[in-house]
Amino acid sequence: MYRMRKGVLWVVLALLGVVLAIGTALMLRITRPAPELSNLPSPAIAASPSPTAVSPQPELPAAPFPEISAKARNLDIPIIMYHDVKPVKDVDWDITPDHLAKHFQTIQEKGLTPITLEQLVQHLRTGATLPPKPILLTFDDNYLGEYEYAFPLLKQYNYPAVWSVHTHYVGSQAGKPKATWEQLQEMVQSGLITVASHTVNHLRLDTLSPEKVTYELQESKRVLEQNLGVPIQYFTYPEGDFIESVKQKVTEAGYLAALSMSLDAQVECVANKSDDLLSIMRFGQSRFEEIVGAIANRG
Ligand SMILES: [Zn+2]
Repeated sequence: MYRMRKGVLWVVLALLGVVLAIGTALMLRITRPAPELSNLPSPAIAASPSPTAVSPQPELPAAPFPEISAKARNLDIPIIMYHDVKPVKDVDWDITPDHLAKHFQTIQEKGLTPITLEQLVQHLRTGATLPPKPILLTFDDNYLGEYEYAFPLLKQYNYPAVWSVHTHYVGSQAGKPKATWEQLQEMVQSGLITVASHTVNHLRLDTLSPEKVTYELQESKRVLEQNLGVPIQYFTYPEGDFIESVKQKVTEAGYLAALSMSLDAQVECVANKSDDLLSIMRFGQSRFEEIVGAIANRG
């Protein structure tokens, strides 16, 4: 009798152990964060693409999309646009690694704070507070030189930046070599780099049919999200070629904001003086000293 009871006790204890183990395993599964999207401050890919749905600072009312809030009009925020980084420049708008390092040194010495594109867009929508003397650094066209020289510098200084990537050329070795998907994944995983779509083929959007514009906007977003595992929420026009019909399609494709550029120095301006969130203006890097000097001296 006693032996039998002891046997039953062992069975009960064993069953309890199994139940506990299964329960713990289930809890771990439930509490473990999703592997890729968990580090993002932004909504998951499946979330509504509606720009107004995204609001990390819900206490601050946002201007109707795509307007820039009146509260964001007074703080001058320069966005600097870089292209390839090479010891010997191919074209005028390239920069040497030494010169880029000097820019970073100047940013630090003058007390400027590089911010993320998400911080900028939140500020432009709501007037949300930003760190002192904010500046946004952007690198276009996914050149290998940007990965080789700018990315290590960004890591050294812990500065965030935007990478505008045209998907058809990722990993291309023709002409100026471009960074690979693996290199882009490494940059995204560093937490410093926000990848923006820069279309598929880098064609002027104001010259394409509506169908082709839609393709360039949607396919690039899809391919970037598939390969990088993060939501792609921002867009950069290939040549600053935003016209109203293209801006409309940028909104329809689910982007929250778009970066522009101009070859006319008179048109270049600080982000907060841009027309709206779908045409945020930048300065070519050749004007860095002039622009940053003006911001730094303002105190
Ligand atoms: Zn470009």
